[in-house]
Amino acid sequence: MSDTSVIEISEEAVTGNIEFLRNHFGSAIVLSSVVKANAYGHGVKSFVPLAEKAGISHFSVFSACEARELIKVRSPESSMMIMGWMNDDDLGWAIENGLEFFVFEPARLKKVVSIAEKCGKPALIHIEMETGMNRTGMHMKELKEAAGIITSHPDCFVLKGLCTHLAGAESVANHVRIQKQLTRYTRLCKIFNGRGLVPEYRHVSSSAAAITYPAARFNMVRIGILQYGYWPSAETLMYYLSKKKVMDDPLKRVIRWKSRVMALKNVKRGEFISYGTVYLAQEDKKIAIVPVGYSHGYSRSLSNQGRVLIKGERIAVIGMVNMNMLIADVTKIPSVKTGDEVVLIGDQGNIAISVASFSEFSNQLNYELLTRLPRGIPRTVVN
Ligand SMILES: *Cc1c(COP(=O)(O)O)cnc(C)c1O
Repeated sequence: MSDTSVIEISEEAVTGNIEFLRNHFGSAIVLSSVVKANAYGHGVKSFVPLAEKAGISHFSVFSACEARELIKVRSPESSMMIMGWMNDDDLGWAIENGLEFFVFEPARLKKVVSIAEKCGKPALIHIEMETGMNRTGMHMKELKEAAGIITSHPDCFVLKGLCTHLAGAESVANHVRIQKQLTRYTRLCKIFNGRGLVPEYRHVSSSAAAITYPAARFNMVRIGILQYGYWPSAETLMYYLSKKKVMDDPLKRVIRWKSRVMALKNVKRGEFISYGTVYLAQEDKKIAIVPVGYSHGYSRSLSNQGRVLIKGERIAVIGMVNMNMLIADVTKIPSVKTGDEVVLIGDQGNIAISVASFSEFSNQLNYELLTRLPRGIPRTVVN
């Protein structure tokens, strides 16, 4: 291994997670697999074929440039949906290739009309509605205008979806806001239904809402984090476990990120370790240097907080996480040698490190750390 670290993608975990999700949601609901941000750091190239083998045939990304990557690795039978950024210049390409995309401005529909007429193919659109998140999405007035444009150009559009995004279904603290959004969503859908515009899909839920608001599943859910084996929040997992009256997390982490011990050193009591005065050795210490730092995606917020696995033991990261290195406290494992495996995420022996288990950080860190894993780290698929 000349790379400083390697990411393993477990086929068994992908298959198991997707099977669980499909059973949980039922076959009437289409599961759109969200693979934005390089499949949450797992690598689109590695992840997408595994998801397809497990039965996924609809994928979502954020931008047209992510779609250009996805189109090279998905099977032609799989649908693709762009949920966010597209240039006007991307529209022709998207329409030609039969990609679905969100529309959140009436002006975009007018552009689409001229392009769709030119290439003689309808655009597959999802109308995004503003229901209270206050991000992208059209208000009532814009939706009426949009419905008008669609009705007067029936050959230019296929209304694939009416959708919105919920603002924080992973916490019960947002319950009132979510309920309001759902009510507003239903009301706004009527603008289209009233004009005879019936979408193929209605979708509002990402992982958290799909678990905790069954009524919000409609006939499509957009699932990101769950398929990679993580819960959007501890609350969502607790909700699932208590509803189902089960004890065990049904998901398996797909990623295993590993490196090696690069050097070992003894440090005397009373010395500071690494930059500055962040960590003071209060006893004689043995430390292991690991060639992974924040430039490799190991967040600096894990300074003095993170945990890694060495020789089947949970080991503290001490001092600042550096650009290319971190330091682990191996005082309690005298047998450790240079070259020994270091697990940054995933399991070793009987224990595992999830990103969130680093500390009492919010699970938000799962999303952030995973999606920041650099493309340069090699991904390999393992059973
Ligand atoms: C990222 C994203 C999702 C998936 O979110 P998870 O919490 O990872 O399931 C769904 N919908 C939209 C619009 C998104 O941007």
